Amino acid sequence: MSGSAETVHDVLIIGSGAAGGAAAVHLAAAQHSVCLLERTDCKNLKPCGGGMAASVQQWFPFPLDPAVEQVIRRVNFSWCLQDPVVAELPGDAPFWIVRRERLDQLLADEAMKRGAQRQTGVDVNHVERQGADWQVMATDGRQWRARSLVIADGSASPWPQRLGIGPRGVNHANTISVRLEGQGTLADGSARFEFGLVPQGFAWAFPLAGGVNVGVGSFIGRDELDSRAVLQQLLPDLGFAEDAGERQHRRLRIWNGHHRLHGDGVVVVGDAASLCDPFLAEGLRPALMSGCEAAVHLSSWLRGDQASLKSYSGAMRERWGESMAWGRRIAQVFYRFPGVGYQLGIKRPTAPRRIAQILSGEMGYGDIAQRVIKRLLLKRS
Ligand SMILES: Cc1cc2nc3c(=O)[nH]c(=O)nc-3n(C[C@H](O)[C@H](O)[C@H](O)COP(=O)(O)OP(=O)(O)OC[C@H]3O[C@@H](n4cnc5c(N)ncnc54)[C@H](O)[C@@H]3O)c2cc1C
Repeated sequence: MSGSAETVHDVLIIGSGAAGGAAAVHLAAAQHSVCLLERTDCKNLKPCGGGMAASVQQWFPFPLDPAVEQVIRRVNFSWCLQDPVVAELPGDAPFWIVRRERLDQLLADEAMKRGAQRQTGVDVNHVERQGADWQVMATDGRQWRARSLVIADGSASPWPQRLGIGPRGVNHANTISVRLEGQGTLADGSARFEFGLVPQGFAWAFPLAGGVNVGVGSFIGRDELDSRAVLQQLLPDLGFAEDAGERQHRRLRIWNGHHRLHGDGVVVVGDAASLCDPFLAEGLRPALMSGCEAAVHLSSWLRGDQASLKSYSGAMRERWGESMAWGRRIAQVFYRFPGVGYQLGIKRPTAPRRIAQILSGEMGYGDIAQRVIKRLLLKRS
């Protein structure tokens, strides 16, 4: 179906990534007419490590398995490729590696099975409130109308700032990702984290079926990330040529405070809402969480059961923001003194279990933050 200004959907979703797909699944399941608008043809590689707690499965009424390529049981940490720490992950908080393109496709397919429409090759370039509806336009002139809007177009989204929702100023992590064929020295079920080589950040290698996602992220600095120098050392250590793979640079919006994530008939979700964890760059879980949460509140608003979407902002603050406020403080201390952080944080026998519990949502940063920050600051003084 082509864009038509005459059809008024219940919901238009800009962006068919993790956040947009999750929202579409639940809104369509609740019998709303949903249209997903996606710029790409969904065949491109997505720069994402694909690491995700298996606990997200509880938010979906269908198995996510088709997108899962590895279950991580062991994590190897290093400092400048030395001083290794090997951590066995507890079996009760499994960590998955998904192939990102497949996860996004799976969510869109499941949404479409429940009645949602998806249109690809739509580059949205205009969004406007017109009376009680939202009007959305694409660069090719097509138009859509809906009673409500979900902004899910990722870290480069211009809409939150233009509509006065989300943070006024955004903070970015600088990242580079490389998708490699073959697994090099990385064993099935093992992930690798390297601290020390990356100023104010870390590098990771996550195994896929027959491949590896390697990434480098720098979190609190404003300087350009010299990823070439990092990869020149890291890739041979992982069993690959130093210039292997195609590189993709991305600026990733990271959480930088509590903000209103709703307006009149509009919500912002996922990276567009700056939800990504400022310490570990975990963005998939909050993208899925916010998509699912947005669907609950929008559905109730569309049925006339609530007057505003304020409850969505409140729920995200409680479920995600409170923990991220502590995660941000930990990141600010850790990435300033990463050597101390590695010795006192990562090398602690309890650290792997804590990291697994945080990534699975079993624990928030608030549960450990005060102890961690005190330990890091005491060691510095
Ligand atoms: C290198 C790297 C590695 C990462 N690794 C991990 C990891 O291992 N684990 C983890 O939890 N998180 C990771 N993240 C973060 C995670 O990828 C993001 O948080 C997640 O993709 C957010 O999902 P989203 O749906 O909000 O945005 P996106 O996945 O970016 O989806 C947005 C969608 O909107 C579409 N779009 C954009 N503009 C328009 C437009 N104008 N019109 C129509 N459509 C549009 C895009 O094409 C895209 O499909 C990583 C990020 C990077 C950059």
